[in-house]
Parts: sequence; C-alpha cells; structure tokens
Amino acid sequence: MSNAIGYAAHDPSSPLVPYAFSRRDVGPHDVQIQILYCGVCHSDLHTARNEWNNTLYPSVPGHEIVGRVSAVGSAVSAFKVGDVAGVGCLVDSCRHCASCGEGLEQYCENGFIGTYNGSAFGGSENTLGGYSDHIVVNEQYVLRVSHTENLAAVAPLLCAGITTYSPLRQWNVGPGQKVGVVGLGGLGHMAVKIAAAMGAHVVLFTTSPDKTEDALRLGAAEVVVSKDKAQMAAHANSLDFILNTVAAPHSLDPFIALLKRDGTMTLVGAPASPHPSPSVFGLIFKRRRIAGSLIGGIQETQDMLDFCAQHGIVADIEMIDIRDINQAYERMLRSDVKYRFVIDMASLKADA
Ligand code: NAP
Ligand code: ZN
Ligand code: ZN
Repeated sequence: MSNAIGYAAHDPSSPLVPYAFSRRDVGPHDVQIQILYCGVCHSDLHTARNEWNNTLYPSVPGHEIVGRVSAVGSAVSAFKVGDVAGVGCLVDSCRHCASCGEGLEQYCENGFIGTYNGSAFGGSENTLGGYSDHIVVNEQYVLRVSHTENLAAVAPLLCAGITTYSPLRQWNVGPGQKVGVVGLGGLGHMAVKIAAAMGAHVVLFTTSPDKTEDALRLGAAEVVVSKDKAQMAAHANSLDFILNTVAAPHSLDPFIALLKRDGTMTLVGAPASPHPSPSVFGLIFKRRRIAGSLIGGIQETQDMLDFCAQHGIVADIEMIDIRDINQAYERMLRSDVKYRFVIDMASLKADA
C-alpha cells in the first residue's frame, strides 16, 4: 500500500476537505501515475452531493486525470516511468462480456468499475478518484497522451472529450450535417469543438446569451438563445442530430421540434431529477428519436485523444487550486465556468 492524499466529501452537504488514504501496491499489470492535473466534471458534483443516490463516502471525485507515470508493474510494457498518461472515467471492467469484447467497457454487462465511487462486481470497494496525488490503475485502462504542450487543458478530454466524441461518432456526424449542441459547459464546449472538427455545421443552444461570442470562437457556426422562441422557430425541422449536455431538468420538446424527420437527440446530461416527459406527438409525427450515451470505451478514448491531438483540440480551462474546489462547484451550479475547471495538483502538496 502507498500513502495518498486528496480531497474528499464525507457527506452530501459538507464541503470537500483534505483526506489521507491508501492506494493498492503496484501489481504486475499496474501503472502508478503521479497526478499533475484533474478536470472538474459536473458528475463530480452530482456524486459528492449524492444527487444520484448512490454515493459511497468518503468520496474522492475526479475522472479527468493526466499525470506522469511514477512506477510500473513487472509485466507492463506499454508504459514506462516518466511517460505522460491519462485516466478517464473507468478503471476496470469484467473483460469477458460481449460489450467488453467489443471495446465498449462503459456498457460492461457485469458493471464497469468507475474511477471513483466504483463498487462493481458485487464488491464493497469504493474507488477513489483524481482529486489526489497519485493513482494505481491496470495498464489496459490507462491512456497514452501525445499532445503534452498544454497538459492541463488535455485533462478534460478524459471525460468531457470522450462523452461528446463517442455519440458524435456513433451518429456519424460529419460534413453536410447540421448538428445542435445544447448547453455550453464542460461537455458542451468540447462537443462544439469536436463536431466542428468533424466538419459539421454546429448550432449552439444556450441559456446564457453572454456565451455567444465564445461559442462562435470555439467553432459554432450559429448560436441560439434557447429561451427566445423566435430564434428557436427559425431552426424548426432542420437539425440532423442534437447532443444535449444540460445538467438540469428541462423540457425536451422545444429541442425535439428542431429535428428533421428521423433526426436524433442524444442525452448525455444526467440531471439529479428527471426531465419532464416529452410529448409523443413531437416524436411520432417525424419518426424522431431520443437516445442516450455513456462516456466511451478505452480504445475509443484513445482514438479521441489522437483525434484531438491531430486537430489541436484541448479544453478551454480555468486552473484552480484544490482548496478552491468547493467554490468551483458553486460557480458550476451557476453555469459560470469557462469552460472547465482544472485542478493544479501541485496545490495539493502546498495545501497539505
Ligand atoms: P457543466 O459544465 O455544468 O455544463 C452544463 C451546462 O448546462 C451549463 O453550462 C449550462 O449551459 C447548461 N445548464 C445548466 N443548468 C441549466 C438549466 N437549468 N437550464 C438549461 N441549461 C442549463 O456540466 P458538464 O460537466 O458539462 O456536465 C453536464 C452533464 O453531463 C452533467 O449532468 C454530468 O453529470 C453529465 N455527464 C454525463 C456523462 C455521460 O457519460 N453521459 C459524462 C459526463 C458528464 P448554458 O449556460 O450554455 O445554458
Ligand atoms: Zn465526467
Ligand atoms: Zn464486461
């Protein structure tokens, strides 16, 4: 075992505080990573505050991890000490079900093990995530990071990047398509960048009119303030695909009305309470679909990192010290993030 330090939530309503714990020894197939940066995902907040009613405490969130390999097991050949590496949302899965066999570990039929709050395979283990100084992960679940110039801004790709890349690929987004992105937060701003890089005509839907200029700079061709009915009506029946990243319950109907016949809106936002049930008429008259998508598999995450490296895509970040995490959560709740907080893990040592 090795001694680790991090920040943990101990119950749904108290702030995150410094926390000392142990990591497992580095096994033959394990990679130990000294964490340099960790992105702050809205799922971290949902979990810390038990908004999905499944949090195991103490909870150390964080699944947008980049760092430097500090030890490798005797059987590890793909990584060596000193390499830059990443860890995303999952650190293990059963490795033998049909989904694992297809590289879709996030849909593992026996339950994948999340980087934090993981308790799969009927065990009681509560995995502890990236708001910490180091982590030990099986090599098969560690990603190679090739664009290292702005490493802090690469961290959010490990969740926000893959969670948007995966559905954009699954629904074959590309040139000639008009693609909507709903919500310009961590996920939304990655979706805009990636969909634009895939060649789509991107329309960003926001509740925050002051984000318009940013959205255009990030790659949106058009920006619509979703509360403005006239602006919404101008796009009726015109979108091939919509990726909805909103973290709060809202009516889906105004967005469904924007889809073409056979168009799909995929939900990746995971609010604490459900969206109001959509009108069936909005769906049946144009054979429209609502779908969902969960993060992405390990190979697809590697593909996404390589795609982003090739296209020069990183997140737009605001770096914070770990002691400011609770304040960052409050700002996230006010949609006041431009566009991802990333924790500089050097601040953990300074804080300890
Ligand atoms: P975020 O940075 O807080 O962004 C969410 C955005 O949603 C906000 O910036 C805001 O954009 C919009 N929004 C927030 N409240 C709203 C409201 N009441 N009405 C309308 N729009 C609102 O969050 P995130 O990290 O991108 O995560 C988004 C959601 O995805 C969370 O629920 C998270 O748990 C979930 N998630 C899912 C997966 C998955 O695998 N499916 C993976 C990661 C995260 P505007 O200001 O532009 O309106
Ligand atoms: Zn996440
Ligand atoms: Zn499996």
